[in-house]
Amino acid sequence: VSAWASVPAGPPDPILGISEAFKADKDSKKINLGVGAYRDDKGKPYVLPSVKKAEEIVRSSNPDKEYLPITGLPEFTKSAAKLAYGADSSPLSDGRISITQSISGTGALRIGGAFLARHYPHAKAIYLPVPTWGNHIPLFKDSGLEVRGYRYFDKSTIGLDFAGLKADLQAAPEQSIVLLHACAHNPTGVDPTQQQWKEISDIVKERKLFPFFDMAYQGFASGSTSRDAFALRHFVSEGHQVALAQSFAKNMGLYGERVGAFSLVTASPEEKARVDSQLKIVIRPMYSNPPLHGARIASTILGDQALNAQWEGEVKGMADRIISMRETLYNTLTNDLKTPGEWSHIKSQIGMFSFTGLKPEQTKALAEKAHVFMTADGRISMAGLNAGNVHYFSESVDAAVR
Ligand code: PLP
Repeated sequence: VSAWASVPAGPPDPILGISEAFKADKDSKKINLGVGAYRDDKGKPYVLPSVKKAEEIVRSSNPDKEYLPITGLPEFTKSAAKLAYGADSSPLSDGRISITQSISGTGALRIGGAFLARHYPHAKAIYLPVPTWGNHIPLFKDSGLEVRGYRYFDKSTIGLDFAGLKADLQAAPEQSIVLLHACAHNPTGVDPTQQQWKEISDIVKERKLFPFFDMAYQGFASGSTSRDAFALRHFVSEGHQVALAQSFAKNMGLYGERVGAFSLVTASPEEKARVDSQLKIVIRPMYSNPPLHGARIASTILGDQALNAQWEGEVKGMADRIISMRETLYNTLTNDLKTPGEWSHIKSQIGMFSFTGLKPEQTKALAEKAHVFMTADGRISMAGLNAGNVHYFSESVDAAVR
């Protein structure tokens, strides 16, 4: 018999399953709002002009294909840390941020999970928001951490359950690890306000929790990379020793290039050196060292003043297009179609996704009758909407909820 004769069939990935159903649908009006990847106003994938320019610069330098060090391209990680923590960050200028290149945001989270499982000196339990990005749960379990949840989303207001969040963090055992989405919470599109972040920071301090930031959307939420780094930088300025996972998938459109970074704030350059050595010991048996090309692109953009400014403009362009789609969708539902229900959350939510409040049976009807595909929880990728389809989408939603 085959060695794999008793391997059970696993469930399909919930998001990729939607893309398959979308592909199989032959209607010309079909819309895919499942996958979290930016689309331009024609519904097409978008390669940023700054990325194209950086690729030309990289190519014209005739680079070799040698292995990178275990922790990646040093110019890249230096620029990535500056982008996240800010040029004036004191742990950065003190030389006590330990950072490594990673296989995008997922790889950064996984390195972090593995490092914490091995070296975090307290109970290895991580609290995730409910709901959270679906991959967080198996990722941290597979890393060897115990996964628990804290309240985040209030279905009745389609907003933040701030009281529940605070109560759950206050009740968590001291020294627990807490995962925080730095901005543009996925899947809800609901972020704490700056004032609420300050209160969360105070609770994390009081309860001696360990904050682990997942920053997959820096710049994508508000259009400003520094504004979107508010929570992370506030925590650092309050003296928290944070862990941070960064991704350049969304903000540079480098999805398949897999560019990211994982970092830890340490107490001193001497401690940083010890942590660096252990990060290498975690990474080496996983994949030895990271890929070159994407890190070269990102470091070319971040390291060149003019190109960096151009990129910041392009990030803002993507964020602004999404924000304008939120306005159009809200106005069409509320003013033009007088669709039953309250839709203001569409405008107040932020980032790539919106939790519409549509019920599973309504999302099913949208797929079957209107050729509109989204996750069963009613999450839509705002980036999948454009001037050409937002009216059709609004009318389909209107029909589904009546
Ligand atoms: N974290 C969150 C919250 C995400 O939404 C994503 C992507 O959708 C990621 C991390 C990781 O993405 P990637 O590995 O493509 O950088």
